[in-house]
Amino acid sequence: MPKLPSLDADTLWSDWRMLCETIGERRAGTVEEARAAGFVAHRLNEAGLDQVAIQLFPCFSLRAAKAEVSEPKGRGWRRVEARPLVGAPSTPGERDVRGELAWLELPEGARALRPGSLRGKILAVFGPLPTSLAIHRQLIAAAPRAVIHVDDRLPFTWAKNDGVYPYWAREHGMLPTVAVPYLDAWRWRREGVTELKVRVAVDFRPAASQNVIAELPGSDPTLPAVVFTAHHDTQCNNVGADDNASGVVCLLALARVLGSSRPRTRLRTVRFISFGTEEQLSVGSSAYVRQHHVTPRDTGLVINFDSVASPLGHFVLSVAGAPTLGRYVAAQLAAGGLDVALQPELTPFSDHFPFNRAGIPSLWFMRTNFPGGRWQHHSGHDSLENVSVAEIQRLLRGVLPLAQTLAARRRWPFPSQLPTTLHSRARRVGRELYG
Ligand SMILES: [Zn+2]
Repeated sequence: MPKLPSLDADTLWSDWRMLCETIGERRAGTVEEARAAGFVAHRLNEAGLDQVAIQLFPCFSLRAAKAEVSEPKGRGWRRVEARPLVGAPSTPGERDVRGELAWLELPEGARALRPGSLRGKILAVFGPLPTSLAIHRQLIAAAPRAVIHVDDRLPFTWAKNDGVYPYWAREHGMLPTVAVPYLDAWRWRREGVTELKVRVAVDFRPAASQNVIAELPGSDPTLPAVVFTAHHDTQCNNVGADDNASGVVCLLALARVLGSSRPRTRLRTVRFISFGTEEQLSVGSSAYVRQHHVTPRDTGLVINFDSVASPLGHFVLSVAGAPTLGRYVAAQLAAGGLDVALQPELTPFSDHFPFNRAGIPSLWFMRTNFPGGRWQHHSGHDSLENVSVAEIQRLLRGVLPLAQTLAARRRWPFPSQLPTTLHSRARRVGRELYG
């Protein structure tokens, strides 16, 4: 393949540095998130896409957050690192709550939860946080004073910044919840710690967030478009070099290359969207699908880039669609020199999912580096030191010919609608997690 100027490492790094160094952390509803949206819009304009729009939508923004967990030490208390869960409330009066330490191993231990059974206690949850609404509601009803989350995928000395599903917190309530490092929880168990203090003080308020939308019109506007997506927001306390400045860097590079290709080879419209507020469960993508009344008639396939630049890892392609879609795409990518691990499943945890709810198939490109996903995510380790420009170039070299072929073909060798069974599953999962 000839060397394309828009894939040169300097250009990719310059976009990456702008997002992660010049702007930095880009939490939903902040000035920095808006600045990132403005930068993306500017770069899409420069790429020759003239219909660049910014869509505003309401979100919640974490303006200040403080969490403290203390364990008994001699006659006093010793503090351990703790991170508040975005969307969880403060402790009453933003003061310490103190209680006997109880342990719950999820999901298997949920059976033992009874209304009021944990009243007055501090509950340490080992595992994921509740993965079903039923367990979430049982946990709330058990009424512990506060919840400490120990993520069983991350045996580290630091804690991750995560969030709760906004719909669950809004409709079913939420307890003050913090994450602590796995190795501190490990020590509590080993040493038989029986009591803890927790304090959470968060300022979580309504704000505005932005989606950036641009397109390269195809010569036949009646054909459903190919839509490329990424998200420019981050969790707290990190610059999101992989999650997901890496996806935005890809999106911009694709726009530059496709924007400079001759339009007559493009039958279908190619749309580019960078979403805000993904980290609170794809709020921006949901707002886009809702406000634009997106259907399979206008959108044929969504190709989402979220966290694609791990230096060591596997390129995983999560496919929501007919089996022929996965097979076709994997073969096209292989022809472009990119081998991917196919994951034929519906995943509700990135921006393609609101499109699945509308019956649209999707591909999610990611690069994983351990069975739980990406170890560095949602922590200070998700920095420019821990991403690889060479991996992004490899990904783009595989995706570009696929993008050109998809845009040039009147008929695709796979259905541009989700199979009925997958669509009803997307709707069911969507109702439970998103409301
Ligand atoms: Zn992400």
